[in-house]
Parts: sequence; C-alpha cells; structure tokens
Amino acid sequence: MTVDALVGALVAALGERAVLQSPEDRARFETGWRYGKGVARCVVRPASTAEVATALRLCQQHGARVVAQGANSGLVAASTPDASGSMVVLSLERLNQTIELDQHGRTVLVDGGVLLSQLNEALLPHGLWFPVDLGADPQIGGMIATNTGGTRLLKYGDVRHNLLGVEVVLGDGRVVSALNRLRKNNTGLDSKHLFVGTSGVFGIVTRAVLQVAPKPRQRAVALVGCNSGAAVLNLLQTLERDLADVLSAFEVMSAAALGPVLDHQPNLPRPFAQLPAYSVLVELSSTLSSELLSLDDVLEEQLGAHLEVAGDEVPDIVMHRGEEFWQMRHHISESLRSVGKMLAFDISVPRSQLPAFTEAVHTMLAAEFPVVRLCDYGHWGDGGTHLNLVWDESKAGVPAAQLVAALQPRIYDLAVRDFAGSYSAEHGVGPHNQRFYDLYTDENVKALCGSLRQWCDPDRLLGTVRLD
Ligand SMILES: Cc1cc2nc3c(=O)[nH]c(=O)nc-3n(C[C@H](O)[C@H](O)[C@H](O)COP(=O)(O)OP(=O)(O)OC[C@H]3O[C@@H](n4cnc5c(N)ncnc54)[C@H](O)[C@@H]3O)c2cc1C
Repeated sequence: MTVDALVGALVAALGERAVLQSPEDRARFETGWRYGKGVARCVVRPASTAEVATALRLCQQHGARVVAQGANSGLVAASTPDASGSMVVLSLERLNQTIELDQHGRTVLVDGGVLLSQLNEALLPHGLWFPVDLGADPQIGGMIATNTGGTRLLKYGDVRHNLLGVEVVLGDGRVVSALNRLRKNNTGLDSKHLFVGTSGVFGIVTRAVLQVAPKPRQRAVALVGCNSGAAVLNLLQTLERDLADVLSAFEVMSAAALGPVLDHQPNLPRPFAQLPAYSVLVELSSTLSSELLSLDDVLEEQLGAHLEVAGDEVPDIVMHRGEEFWQMRHHISESLRSVGKMLAFDISVPRSQLPAFTEAVHTMLAAEFPVVRLCDYGHWGDGGTHLNLVWDESKAGVPAAQLVAALQPRIYDLAVRDFAGSYSAEHGVGPHNQRFYDLYTDENVKALCGSLRQWCDPDRLLGTVRLD
C-alpha cells in the first residue's frame, strides 16, 4: 500500500481520530444533500482554530486543495470534493464546543461547527433564539459561508444582518481575528463581509459572534387563499401597512406545489375545498404575551377587514392550524419529487415583479417545453421564489439531462436579464451554478475577487467555487 505523505502528516499532527481515511468513513462527506458527489483524499476534522490552521498549513505544503464542510445541507454542490480523489474535506463537526452567551449584550460567541439546533437549544432557557430559520439544521460556519436566508427573513434579515464578527483561518494557515461584539463600530473596513456568502473560498470560519433575538412568546398563523399573484401582493401590502411590527412570515404556495403535498401526506387535511391559485401562509409573532395582546384576534380582525375589500380576490381564509400549515410548506420539495422528475430553482426578482415573472415562466414553458409543469412556491415577502419544474420522464421524449441543460439558461436568463433578478436568491454559489456566476457577474467584481483571493489564499487551494 502506498503511503500518502499528507495524510500521514495530518494524522501525526492532529491524531488518528481527526483524520478519516476509509471509504466507509468518508462516504457521508462525499455526497451533497441535493447535488455534488466526489471522492475525498481524506476527511480532516480539527477540533480547534489552531488545529484548523495546522491542517491548512500542511495542505498548503503538499499543494492539496481543501473544501470546508459544515452540516453538508447546502444546495449548490459546494461542500463536497470533486471526483479527482485529491481534495481534502475539512469538516468542522468537531469544532462545536463554544457557545458563550452575553445575556445583557444579547450576543453569542460560537464555534463555527456549532449546529443551529444546538445553538437554539442553548439559548432557549434565556428566552432567546437565532432567528435565521429553515427546514434544515446547518452549522453556523456554513450559514455564514452561504449567507442563509430562510422563512423569517422578512422580519429578522439573513445571516449577514445578524452577524457581528468572525474569526477565520486563511488558505496558508494565517488567522484573521475580527470577533467584533459591538453593534456600532464604524472603524474602517468591516472585514467579516468578505466571508459571508462567499462559499468558503476566502477562508474557513472557525468562530463567530452573532446577535440573537428575544424568542416570540406567541405566534398566530393563517392560510389565505388568493386567486392571483396580484391578489397575493395586495395582501402583502395591507399586512405590511397595518401589521409590519409583528409580521414574521409570508410564504406562498401555488396550487401546483401544494396539491402534491396534500396527495402525498395523508396526515395533512385539505385546508380548502378547492385549492386557490395561491395559498399564503401568514405568520404574526411577538414577544408580548397573549394576555396583553392576542395575535390570533389581531390576525382574524385584519384578515376579515381585508376580505371585505378584496372580495373575490381572496376566496377563503383558514386560521388556527399553524403547525399543519408549516408542515405543508416544508413538505413541498419531497412531495414534488414523488410526482416526477424535478428541477429546482432558487430565484429572486423585485417583489413587485413576482406575478409578471411567474406569468412569463408559464408562457415560456407552454411555448417551448409543454411537457414541463411549473410548481412554484417561496418566500414572496423577500422576492424569493423556488421555481420547481416537474415532468413525467416517460412522456418527455428526451433524456432528463438534455431538458435540464435547455431549461436552466432559459429560466436564469428570464430572471436575471428580463426581470433584474438573481439566479441564486439564498443558496449561494457552487459548482451547480458556477457557469451562471461566470455569465452574469460583472468583470470588475470578478477582478476584485481575484485580488482578494490572492491575499487570502495565495495558492488558490480553498473551495470548489471560482469567484474571479
Ligand atoms: C431541507 C432544506 C431546506 C433549506 N432551506 C433553506 C432556506 O430556507 N434558506 C436558505 O438560505 N437555505 C436553505 N437551505 C440551504 C442550506 O441549508 C444552507 O445553504 C446552509 O445554511 C448551509 O450550511 P451547512 O452547514 O450545511 O454548510 P455546507 O452545506 O456544509 O457548506 C455550504 C458552503 O459553505 C462552506 N462552508 C461550510 N462551513 C464553512 C466554514 N466553517 N467556513 C467557511 N466555509 C464553510 C462550504 O465549503 C460550502 O461552500 C436548505 C437546505 C435544505 C436541505
């Protein structure tokens, strides 16, 4: 058996437990959640910032490329190695011990490998939470590298909005300490932004300071039927005008997306006798106790008043079944996959353009891809729409790969060029969408990224994405 000098050096420096070598041990790090499958030279699992620095220095000495991996829940294939078998996966899963709360400051210092659920469990007894909320359980470092959005972005913003400071190890093992705990600190370059949403290519996040939020004491949820995209926007406008302080989610599900959920999840009762064009999950939340102010009453009154004005635009409203409504929202992807072949998009356009954009997609599909059905849903409150395209492979007449190759550029062009939107609203950049980054990103932005990368990672060893 040939001995891999780098693997030997990693074992000598960090110990056997920190380095996984066998195919069985490596397997769970080599396949992504939705996309991405490769082969790792080994998986190194440092347990401190110093160990991350040692691992990166050794990888640099051996010229080995490295991909950081958090909880591996990313959706753009950026957390898994390529197929060469020469990349090292650097997993942060053992760097997960520190959760230091400053209660009066309402900030928390965490290790990069701490899971979102682990952080929220630690915050719960203090009546606090980290409000970037989603249907997966990522690590904080991964959330920073992808600038995770989630279902309550409307109220709390994305990770960038809630991040105060970071500690990062650069490609050659240097450590950048920018662990700012201050909410106000205008003293030059705020370097943390370099590491937010940049897929780990500038450095590996080992610690972070987050601002955390008081956890709401009550929530009120309704499912509002709307007969058009315009009706959805009218509802959003009314709710923001009258209830912006307490509006925490505005999630939209088209009939084509919700229908399969209800067909495939028998435990979820049908909310409406007939599904309207859109079902909107509206959530209010507040730290006020319900004795002081009942959000259920507020929501019922507000929606009743809206119904009077909206008339036929809003055929039905159902209240008080929040848990079921959220279940519907979270089961869409898997339900659609059981209906046929699915291609998922994570698009945003200016909010006011969502109905026109959706209509343009319908028109384009009918004309050019009649076998493909649009099953859209998403965070309309933030201009986000997950366009899921579904088709019956037996009727397509062409292999799925061919259809995907034709559909992707059409949809992205429509979003980016015709509607001033984004081809990746919240999932970030990875091999899955690299060529669209290359296509749509300004050349001077790429040049700037190149210069920054030269300083952060002189040998260009980090990550699977190219931002320059
Ligand atoms: C069911 C489901 C629902 C989802 N819903 C949403 C949603 O609503 N909104 C949303 O925004 N996203 C959503 N996502 C996407 C995903 O959860 C996020 O992208 C996630 O935050 C990534 O974190 P992770 O720890 O899993 O990172 P990984 O997937 O392991 O890695 C993602 C990227 O970050 C890099 N990285 C990881 N850790 C570090 C580190 N410590 N330092 C530097 N770089 C690092 C990786 O190299 C890779 O480029 C969803 C995913 C799933 C599976």
